[in-house]
Amino acid sequence: MAQSFSIPISRRDLLKLAGVTAAGAVLSGSLDTTKAEAAAQPSGKTIKYADKKIPVICAADVCICGGGPAGVAAAVNAARNGVKVVLIERGIALGGLGVLGCVYPFMDTHAPDSDTPYLAELKQRLRDKGIEPFDGVTQQTWHNPEILCLIHDEMCEETGVNILYQTVVVDSLKSGGKISAVIVQTIAGLAAVTAKTFIDATGDAYLARCSGVDYERGYEKTGNNQPLSFRFEMGGINVERLYQYVAIELQEDWCKSKPPYFEIAEAMHRKQRYKLEAFMARGVETGEITQDEAEYMQAYTIIGKNGVMSMNCPEIPVTFSATDPLSYSKAVTFGRKMMRNIARYLVNHLPGFENAFISREAVMLGARESWRIKGKYYMVEDDYHNQSRFADAVCRTAWFIDAHGEKVSEKLPKGGFYEIPYRALISDKVDNLIVAGRCISASFILQASMRIQPTCYSIGEAAGIAAAFGIQNRVDANKIDWASIPASKRSYVSKG
Ligand SMILES: Cc1cc2nc3c(=O)[nH]c(=O)nc-3n(C[C@H](O)[C@H](O)[C@H](O)COP(=O)(O)OP(=O)(O)OC[C@H]3O[C@@H](n4cnc5c(N)ncnc54)[C@H](O)[C@@H]3O)c2cc1C
Repeated sequence: MAQSFSIPISRRDLLKLAGVTAAGAVLSGSLDTTKAEAAAQPSGKTIKYADKKIPVICAADVCICGGGPAGVAAAVNAARNGVKVVLIERGIALGGLGVLGCVYPFMDTHAPDSDTPYLAELKQRLRDKGIEPFDGVTQQTWHNPEILCLIHDEMCEETGVNILYQTVVVDSLKSGGKISAVIVQTIAGLAAVTAKTFIDATGDAYLARCSGVDYERGYEKTGNNQPLSFRFEMGGINVERLYQYVAIELQEDWCKSKPPYFEIAEAMHRKQRYKLEAFMARGVETGEITQDEAEYMQAYTIIGKNGVMSMNCPEIPVTFSATDPLSYSKAVTFGRKMMRNIARYLVNHLPGFENAFISREAVMLGARESWRIKGKYYMVEDDYHNQSRFADAVCRTAWFIDAHGEKVSEKLPKGGFYEIPYRALISDKVDNLIVAGRCISASFILQASMRIQPTCYSIGEAAGIAAAFGIQNRVDANKIDWASIPASKRSYVSKG
């Protein structure tokens, strides 16, 4: 038999890490507490995986895979509802694309009253830390990535969520129709995490796919995923000068708010005749940038980081795939070159950028869409146009159908919105699995509307509440009727 792989940490240290004082601490019986204590506890057990004996490093009630908007909201809300939670994240910051991918600000859902309690709290916490998220004109939430991930850490700490950072979910073990454990790659080696209920918030439906849930990827008409982007930040920008040039001299009125809230919402895209189009086109004519580099350039100020803007570019040609590992890796190299070219062109020619420089590259490529599950309810474009309502709705949104390169639909009428049902988060295939975030059960086109961060936070929030409810009431996650959860516990109640 192969040598067993053990994590070089003593049992006593593990107990300390988990906040457990006695080795014989009871592993269950936490369900009635209002605040989960140590979220996960070492069992001292090992599990056999691929001919190896690997340690079970956490035994939780709820295990959440992926610490992006959906995952962190799920974790905090499950813990607040009295269960032991472990949150597994492959990076070392929570917030997903909204932190690791340099994606800010949160877009406006355009749906009235769409903020679920977690989102409202997040905005208040930003404000409490000196980041005013509202510009007074748009409804975008201007956040700051370093503050946002600090807030997420604090919320996890307060609620007793145990975070496993720099830990990658690599596989799952199943027993009957349930996941019994996930196999993770930790800083110390392979290990297992057991739980009663699992939430897949990886964005890529990774856990669902390796557990036998049906899935699809890309657009059924072309086979392409939405294009990837490699976002970055530039520092040393004279934002006042930039504003003067773009808003006053060119009279671009895309962003109505003034610095410190300022955006170049579009420069040259989809032949929409933005005021910076001629500027970008000149770069193509002189050979300084390519057409692909010119086609998509956006920049947003970051509150609390004076002179720094978040660059929503380059958009990498759609021939690179978000779901093929080799193509994805080539996209990184290709995207980095595009990034340098765009930055150089802006520094050389755009007023306000004279002394600018690349101050940060995303540590996660921007995948707008990759894999999506096929669950009990499959959301489609008609749900958007018909403004569908559901008794088991977990949130509402009205962000437009933002499928880059394919379709940008007309916006819903003011006040219009559609809802997302809990059934789009679950499948018939795995009883104890909830999927949250951008990889829920939705067509390519519908996903292009539901994928923005506020909506992913709200979906995750509901997933966490449902997971705790299911455990406490002994109902499998995929049998829960969201509408039967007491309204006072639900983060969103459909008004029909
Ligand atoms: C280029 C781009 C621009 C965008 N612009 C905006 C915008 O301006 N405003 C807006 O609101 N939204 C925007 N979005 C959409 C939004 O950022 C995402 O759809 C949203 O972050 C998805 O949230 P999520 O929680 O589902 O997944 P993600 O944010 O993708 O988070 C998933 C998390 O899971 C972790 N993870 C993945 N696999 C594993 C694994 N196997 N093991 C452990 N951890 C894992 C990842 O590290 C990550 O932290 C944009 C997206 C892109 C790509």
